[in-house]
Amino acid sequence: MTDWTAFAAALGGIPTETDPALVKQKSRDFYWYSPVLKQQLRHVAGDIVVAPRDEAEVIEVVRHSFAARIPITVRGGGTGNYGQAMPLHGGVVLDVMHLNTIGPVTDGVLRAGTGAKLGEIEARCKPLGWELRMFPSTRRTASIGGFVAGGSGGVGSINFGQLREPGTLLGARVVTMEAEPRVLHLRGSEVNRVHHAYGTNGIITELDVAMAPAQAWLDYVVAFDDFMALAGFADAIARADGIAKRLVTAVDGAAAAYFKPLQEVLTPGESVGLFLIAAQSAESFEEVLQAHGGRVARKLTETEADSAVPAFEFTWNHTTLQALKVDRSITYLQSRFPGPDYLAVVAQTIARYGDEVPMHLEFIRTGGEVACVGLPLVRFTTEERLRAIIAEFEAHGIMVFDPHTYILEDGGMKQTDPAQLAFKHQADPLGLLNPGKMRGWTAPLPAA
Ligand SMILES: Cc1cc2nc3c(=O)[nH]c(=O)nc-3n(C[C@H](O)[C@H](O)[C@H](O)COP(=O)(O)OP(=O)(O)OC[C@H]3O[C@@H](n4cnc5c(N)ncnc54)[C@H](O)[C@@H]3O)c2cc1C
Repeated sequence: MTDWTAFAAALGGIPTETDPALVKQKSRDFYWYSPVLKQQLRHVAGDIVVAPRDEAEVIEVVRHSFAARIPITVRGGGTGNYGQAMPLHGGVVLDVMHLNTIGPVTDGVLRAGTGAKLGEIEARCKPLGWELRMFPSTRRTASIGGFVAGGSGGVGSINFGQLREPGTLLGARVVTMEAEPRVLHLRGSEVNRVHHAYGTNGIITELDVAMAPAQAWLDYVVAFDDFMALAGFADAIARADGIAKRLVTAVDGAAAAYFKPLQEVLTPGESVGLFLIAAQSAESFEEVLQAHGGRVARKLTETEADSAVPAFEFTWNHTTLQALKVDRSITYLQSRFPGPDYLAVVAQTIARYGDEVPMHLEFIRTGGEVACVGLPLVRFTTEERLRAIIAEFEAHGIMVFDPHTYILEDGGMKQTDPAQLAFKHQADPLGLLNPGKMRGWTAPLPAA
């Protein structure tokens, strides 16, 4: 049995928290999006929260934890969806939000501490002429390190693809989980060893990311009577290379009915498109909109949007959150429709499930092509039915990134990434980092 008071005292002045209610609070993320994970993970809690203020303190926590064989689960903003930041085997919850330096920006490359909030990065960098290439819809609360370690893409992916594609993640400082922790400097594609690895193979302390030139964005909500007409419009905007954009989203009327803050500008049943369009492209955007039979329901500047609910907070995984605020029985899927004729597959999917799976599409550009990602809502009945829908999606060639599992591989590409596993052998030889999440790591946890 670990004496947590003694453990905290041994850490000297590094801030700790052992109050069970507070530790439990910091042991949670948005796992409850999934009714399956809600059952499986509700009792999970760490033993202590430790909040280092710089990299030297991270190393100190690692040294003490390793010596006592105590697992460490890193936590950023705690907005992950699949129990990613939940400590299945207890131990230390390492709150890294104090490592929040922002800058400098050199030749368009930002250096930031892992705990820097994405919203603060944007606010700080915009006056310097730079903005993030992409951010999750949790921009206000999520950290850059949590995005890199747990996320995949989001607003901006219509221009820059996903985080794992070459060119955006340029460097990372990573602390290893060893008796004498090392600081490794990953560069270029090496960063993918720790990207979307859920903190199972290293503790990121600092990142170098490529930025985009800042632009003035207009925040559009558009409305259509028919979802497939909206999807066709969104596809046209996604492909219109002359129209500068940052976000292209299409949401079915049944899902948009949950968008409480937008109801006053919508007619019941209307499908809703959410877009960020550069001011210089507004006229062309509205011309294409008119040609496709849609209307502008709301149009705000970025500053106005910040004091309302911005369009992006109805997109990506926020679409599901808006629905869950109204109906706790809703859940969702993450999928990618096969191209190039992905809209035909979308139409077939809608015909197959009707109101059981209200459609939600995000358009991204990946590998030089426009792609159509689906995050449809699901009216949950049983896990069996949910699994049947997933199996049917896959049988129709729709790739599913299962959000109802906390196992890294099962949620993503279904197989262990050999580079991530090899890196774990090097950086976490005893398997003490976020244990239980990587299926490819089979060695048992050593006794504390
Ligand atoms: C409403 C909502 C909308 C979302 N929208 C998107 C979206 O658009 N795109 C997207 O990709 N995701 C999205 N997500 C998922 C999540 O918000 C993002 O992945 C987010 O960037 C996570 O950041 P965070 O700081 O909250 O990380 P956390 O949830 O704290 O951590 C995420 C994972 O990273 C690990 N981790 C955190 N910091 C470190 C570190 N320094 N070193 C090593 N491991 C670390 C944690 O252990 C955990 O496994 C959404 C989630 C919600 C609830």
